[in-house]
Amino acid sequence: MNFDYDLFVIGAGSGGVRAARISAKHGAKVAIAEEYRVGGTCVIRGCVPKKLFVYASQYAEHFEDALGYGWTVQGVDFDWATLIENKDKEIDRLNKAYIRNLEASGAELIQARATLKDAHTLALSDGRTVTAKTILIATGATPFVPQNVPGHELAITSNQAFHLEQLPRRIAIVGGGYIAVEFAGIFSNLGVETILIYRGDQILRGFDQDLRAQLTAEMKKKGVEIRTRADIQTIEKSGDGVRLTLTDGATFGAGHVMFATGRIPHTKGLGLEQVGVEVDANGTIKVDAFSRTNIANIFAVGDVTNRLNLTPVAIREGHAFADTQFGGKSVQVDHSDVATAVFSQPEIGTVGLTEEQARAQFGKVDIYKTSFKPMRHTLSGRDERMLMKLVVDAETDRVLGCHIMGPDAGEMAQLLGIAVKMKATKADFDATMAVHPTAAEELVTMREKWTG
Ligand code: NDP
Repeated sequence: MNFDYDLFVIGAGSGGVRAARISAKHGAKVAIAEEYRVGGTCVIRGCVPKKLFVYASQYAEHFEDALGYGWTVQGVDFDWATLIENKDKEIDRLNKAYIRNLEASGAELIQARATLKDAHTLALSDGRTVTAKTILIATGATPFVPQNVPGHELAITSNQAFHLEQLPRRIAIVGGGYIAVEFAGIFSNLGVETILIYRGDQILRGFDQDLRAQLTAEMKKKGVEIRTRADIQTIEKSGDGVRLTLTDGATFGAGHVMFATGRIPHTKGLGLEQVGVEVDANGTIKVDAFSRTNIANIFAVGDVTNRLNLTPVAIREGHAFADTQFGGKSVQVDHSDVATAVFSQPEIGTVGLTEEQARAQFGKVDIYKTSFKPMRHTLSGRDERMLMKLVVDAETDRVLGCHIMGPDAGEMAQLLGIAVKMKATKADFDATMAVHPTAAEELVTMREKWTG
């Protein structure tokens, strides 16, 4: 049978674009459809603009810290509109670069919504119908907003947070995951009174307990109000903003309430049921180790498969798919020991097992940890501590996990990721000479086991 394309990709985000480009380079005839903007969540309304906002918000502290180093800082002011305008310009630049790279690879970009008609046929929102031998779904995820909360439609999500016309005086953020803590830091440092509302006992469930506790303490010091074991009961309109009632009975007003309560796979209305592509109750597409769905010629990569929802993982999955299907080499993605950063303030960088996970899996583990004032804050006078922790298998001496909170923790996690992936031992860390004076040198100079 003749098809219009060898590969049709739905969704031009991190995973889809990589898969399309590499498949095209392998000689496949490729089309990629995107209904919104090329680049996906990470580039358009996720990691990239978020990191720019983090940088913007950190200047507030940099100006304060400069005093201890002899600077006099006068007339300091912040203009949200300028930040938004400059951020939008940068996102436009990246969006264009993504389009250029796609086109240079030979893939055809179709600016339309694509839905499945059958296992080889797609209907496009521009009226066309096309066929493809292989189909890749890379439609990502969208913010989840609890629909059971009366007034939930008055809330914003991270999607709108990137485009607020002005900063509110006060914001309430619901959730205790990546997005909630990152935006709490951004808004708070930009001078917005910030209240984080989390239903659990401690923010960042799944992260190492020491990191969770110390981040909570540092965020509170910076002025974020963290309300745990709390949830929103109702949201009502009030003046220009909203009035919130929490399940613990508290009630207060805010300019905005933002839900950062997770993301759900973007599979609604794609025609998956019609074709018989298996999804779970959340809409997650089920795939095997080669990203293949239960339908032999249909694959899925990235957040839509809800494996490990991180951009570099989606890119690897897209690349592995392209190499396997069109490059003549079978590649599986290794989802273990993936380093990650939370751009909270202070930042978190982590790779490998938490102490709790390591104890459950390995039984006896040795812990090395240190908490100290970063050198920069000796003169700045800022009351902020840095945390470093190594989790080591007591039997083999292998470093199972590294957990850092403090400036540049994400950068450190990337490099530690190599050591952990190579199964480095604590003795390897000890044999590594320190770089002085850095904070990271603590990672190779900790000698005393933590005894509690
Ligand atoms: P997360 O899954 O990280 O966190 C969701 C939070 O919302 C949790 O604290 C969860 O609580 C809470 N929650 C879920 N449902 C409800 C509900 N019905 N009512 C109240 N609270 C609720 O999701 P995020 O939205 O923060 O981020 C989505 C994903 O995007 C992340 O998991 C990550 O994979 C990715 N991401 C990565 C970033 C990075 O690499 N730096 C940055 C931003 C996002 P509980 O803990 O009790 O389940």
